[in-house]
Amino acid sequence: MSVQFAYGRRADRWVYVGDLDGESDRGLKCGCTCWDCGLPLQAHLGNQKAWHFQHAIEDRNCNPQPMTLLHAFIRDELALRRSLTIPALREPFTFDEAGIHWSHPLDVEAHDLKFTHGASEVRLDGVQPDVLFELEDGQRFAVEVRYSHAVDEEKLKLIRRCCSLAAELDVSDLPASGISVAKVTQVLSEARRWRWLVNGRIDAMQRIATNNARWAYTDWTVRRTKGFEVPKAANPATAKLKEAARKLPLAKAELERLSTQGISQAAARNWLGQQDKVFRVAVACAALRLDPLDLPVFFSQFTHAGPSDPAIKHHPYSWQVVLFMKFGIGKARFTSQEAARWAAIAMPDRMDSAVTTLSINRFSWTAAAIHRYFLRLEAQGLLDSDDSRKLEARVFHSKFRTVRDLHLFLGAC
Ligand SMILES: [Zn+2]
Repeated sequence: MSVQFAYGRRADRWVYVGDLDGESDRGLKCGCTCWDCGLPLQAHLGNQKAWHFQHAIEDRNCNPQPMTLLHAFIRDELALRRSLTIPALREPFTFDEAGIHWSHPLDVEAHDLKFTHGASEVRLDGVQPDVLFELEDGQRFAVEVRYSHAVDEEKLKLIRRCCSLAAELDVSDLPASGISVAKVTQVLSEARRWRWLVNGRIDAMQRIATNNARWAYTDWTVRRTKGFEVPKAANPATAKLKEAARKLPLAKAELERLSTQGISQAAARNWLGQQDKVFRVAVACAALRLDPLDLPVFFSQFTHAGPSDPAIKHHPYSWQVVLFMKFGIGKARFTSQEAARWAAIAMPDRMDSAVTTLSINRFSWTAAAIHRYFLRLEAQGLLDSDDSRKLEARVFHSKFRTVRDLHLFLGAC
């Protein structure tokens, strides 16, 4: 029996037999050749059988496989596109944490991608994705068109090495009789066919999910305070602190205005939350009578010990001096949980921790990070606490009644 298939080649483009004209494209008039052997094809566009191509002269050595052709057709049609929307997906995610097996599906938003270039079967370093696109920002996006087996770990590792994004399109359930060019667009819009292979946003979502699970089962403790008495200076945020210095006169004027108004603590906190991060630092420096260009190391120090430690991701200069303005001077007693709640409103852009659960001992992620900072300040002589309690249970109080006391201390150290 002669070989029948659904795709031919014309002017270097794919032609689906179902897209031909039933009258004018009959037989050899279709002008198509075989993708495998390059010989002319006849289009059989009758009423008795499903439309199909056959070699005009039968060749036993050429036997195009319908699924292979379909795969190559979709691959090459995809490569012609200069934009693509990967629909919103729900990606399964399971992991083991705290002795529990978690299933935590991730909702990944739709990605609208624009390409400057696209090609199929481009050879990269040790790997050849089905389709490779170049994104407008110069990054690479690979698509694997799946019709038999999924991408294996080894190939995935190689793709990950050279592409910042990669996804798999599953076409394994499409009919061997083929689909039209128009149908490709529909296939691409079907969320169930897509799966992300490489995507930094999903990596981040996975980290957050595992961190949340781990944190909810952590009885947070400070392992040791050895070394806390020596401030660990962060890289200086020179440009930002210069900007804060320029804004200092305005910050002083604003503080005077607010104090004349007799603004409440809650209103002051809300007002601070609406300010820009650098202006907030200027305000704190104005209140503490500090020079942003000569910011003491206590207010710009690294506080965390390791990657899985609670940490505030933003530069220390942008939150430590502001926190000290609120808690470092006066008579109040306060916990790090209270400080974290204040900071969440007074500097919301600094405290945007993705870990939203509480530890077993009721620390939010940021409260734990702040607690460790407070313990450092205590070891460095800038705060006091009830040191009869264990480290995690400390309630802090300021060491300085007035800003002048702080300056006496800074002058002495
Ligand atoms: Zn052929």
